[in-house]
Amino acid sequence: MKTSEFKEKILKEYARMKKTDKFSFACNPGVPCFNKCCNDVNIFLTPYDIIRLKNRLGITSGEFLEKYTILPIEENLKHPIVMFRMNDETLNCQLVGENGCTVYEDRPWSCRMFPVGIASPKEGSEVADEEFYFLLEESVCEGFKNGREWSVEEWMNDQGVNEYVELGEIFKEISLHEKFLQGRINEPIKLEMFYTVCYDIDKFRELVFNSSFFKRFKVSETEKAKMKKDDVELLKFGFKFLKFSLFGEETLELSDEYKKAFGKN
Ligand code: SF4
Ligand code: SF4
Repeated sequence: MKTSEFKEKILKEYARMKKTDKFSFACNPGVPCFNKCCNDVNIFLTPYDIIRLKNRLGITSGEFLEKYTILPIEENLKHPIVMFRMNDETLNCQLVGENGCTVYEDRPWSCRMFPVGIASPKEGSEVADEEFYFLLEESVCEGFKNGREWSVEEWMNDQGVNEYVELGEIFKEISLHEKFLQGRINEPIKLEMFYTVCYDIDKFRELVFNSSFFKRFKVSETEKAKMKKDDVELLKFGFKFLKFSLFGEETLELSDEYKKAFGKN
């Protein structure tokens, strides 16, 4: 099923849950289905997921994207999205081992949330009017059988989802921006910029530090120093850059030199 069809199905058919709603679930190495959910599955990766994973694996974002991800091509997609590439033969996630997830402490947001999903109001349908949670009751998963009771909020706290919220919310503001949803941003150069900032953070660092970038924008030396060594700081700056350049928001200030040269106020 295409991503857009699955989203539509969720919006129309899935029971909607609030953070306080409860469900029963247990997942541990003793369950008969252990590791089965890490096979042949669509897992979307957020910018922060990629930073955590590539640093955990000790590789660059470019190497991570090349080896571990695919870019689904669907006509309804408004901008590039990145998904895990499963092993070509076994269809297992490339990061699963006999004893479970080999990057457990840095597993992506979607893996932490499972079996809870979240649907956003702006994802292309008139059916939904506000964000809601839902349960992904996959047939392979036996975790619902003898579980303990959780509220959605308790589950998210237990799985360390909160560390992902701040950057996830900013990413949502950008990826679900009305200009994207209305298809008004479709120039390849802009979509490539979105891809580089959001997913290829090491390439973005190269672009920022090895070009005339800082001649165009006012950025303090303290901020530059932080961005140089800290991927999260660089991503936060990148998000501001995207909001400025894609949506015309005043999130960055042009340098005096640039304003003078190009007659901007
Ligand atoms: S990252 Fe870990 S938890 Fe997520 S699918 Fe891969 S092995 Fe499973
Ligand atoms: S299939 Fe469900 S219960 Fe089994 S390991 Fe995966 S999440 Fe846990």
